[in-house]
Amino acid sequence: MDPHEQNGPSMNEVHVRVGLYRNRYHTDTSCPALNGKPETFGGVERMPREEAEAQGLGPCRTCET
Ligand SMILES: [Zn+2]
Repeated sequence: MDPHEQNGPSMNEVHVRVGLYRNRYHTDTSCPALNGKPETFGGVERMPREEAEAQGLGPCRTCET
């Protein structure tokens, strides 16, 4: 199971901050919670939603609605 093999479009793909404050996953790349706190912002990582949940991350309320 190589995550880099998943190149096709995935409706379940989510975006997760790299670094601190990494406790939610986002469905919207323009979510302010995803791009905020630039002093701790280390980038954004894409992964399947199920993988994010497997890491203990929960859905962001700002872009989940
Ligand atoms: Zn969000």
